[in-house]
Amino acid sequence: MAKRDYYEILGVERGASQDEVKKAYRKLAMQYHPDKNKGDAAAEEKFKEVGEAYAVLSDQQKRAQYDRFGHTAGSAGPRGGQQGGSFEFDLSDALRQFMEGGMFGDIFGQQQRGGRGSARVRGNDLQLKLSLTLEEISDGVRNTIRVKRRRPCQSCGGKGAAAGSAPQECPTCRGQGQVRQVSRTILGQFVNIQTCPQCHGDGKIISNPCKTCEGEGRTRVEDTIHVDVPAGVAAGQYLTLRGEGHSGPRNGPAGDLIVLIEEKEHEYFERDGDNIIYKLTVSVPQLLLGATLEVPTLSGKAQLKLEPGMSPGKMLRMRGKGLPALNGYGRGDQLVEIELHVPKKLSAAERAAIEKLMESENFKVQTNEKGFFERVREAFGQ
Ligand SMILES: [Zn+2]
Ligand SMILES: [Zn+2]
Repeated sequence: MAKRDYYEILGVERGASQDEVKKAYRKLAMQYHPDKNKGDAAAEEKFKEVGEAYAVLSDQQKRAQYDRFGHTAGSAGPRGGQQGGSFEFDLSDALRQFMEGGMFGDIFGQQQRGGRGSARVRGNDLQLKLSLTLEEISDGVRNTIRVKRRRPCQSCGGKGAAAGSAPQECPTCRGQGQVRQVSRTILGQFVNIQTCPQCHGDGKIISNPCKTCEGEGRTRVEDTIHVDVPAGVAAGQYLTLRGEGHSGPRNGPAGDLIVLIEEKEHEYFERDGDNIIYKLTVSVPQLLLGATLEVPTLSGKAQLKLEPGMSPGKMLRMRGKGLPALNGYGRGDQLVEIELHVPKKLSAAERAAIEKLMESENFKVQTNEKGFFERVREAFGQ
């Protein structure tokens, strides 16, 4: 499949500065982030695409290579040519890059560092969602999750060779896991390092494969994992559990487990950053006379005092009753928005009482007051 031009994907000029590339990437990545486009496969594809474009264009060396050779620069791609020159960039790469910004080099660094000997293939990342209540977010929580993943085969100890046999050195690459191809172009000699086609980067050949894992050195298992979620996390953030993803084949390093945080809708509260918003409906007499009311908070019930003569729409602040800051001190507040309950129907006695009130000076209707309409016109600039 033909790939689109990386500059075109990010919508930047070929001469764009690193800063412009970063800005363009950030904007598009936010737009297509899977959390904002739930279940939208096209958006997910775009998210991966901009992630891949940024991965290359944000790296001076890769960008220079791309500028010279285009997509055929392949083996210079982040996966180190693992797939015979193709550029692999999956959703978890894209997500991780998005969250960790400058971490890109590190994602792929592991494999390149293993370069000299047999290039062991890293296992894939695993991704799962964890839905939390605001109470859990408030206190932090230890969650127990079940994970289906590939882990080293117990029968062969992850080596892939049947009991009593051992893997042999690969004759094609002599155990290097890579083959070099030197090609001459008008730009000079270009050394292309590719994964060995015979051993797929292992550097070893298994002539007598383990029966349990058929030589792959890993099997499917279901494990229980504890995830410690710190207090104050928010939807869209994620936790990375290093090495808790799929193991690589034949004792290759394991990928990570990426836990995406989601928030469960709360019965009473809405979240605004570290603050919690609660709507409190009060009656006309409560507004007029003041009251002490019981309101729910994330840490149980609390008393809230209403001063007499409060206007509806006012916001009261219960200090320190919000969520803790994720990386710092202090907590947010609970903001209580006062809403007025206006009864739709009145009994005859209620009507009589209110009509009596209206005779009192304090409750006279004000709109007939002299100069009222002039003031309204003025306010609207007419
Ligand atoms: Zn095995
Ligand atoms: Zn080989």
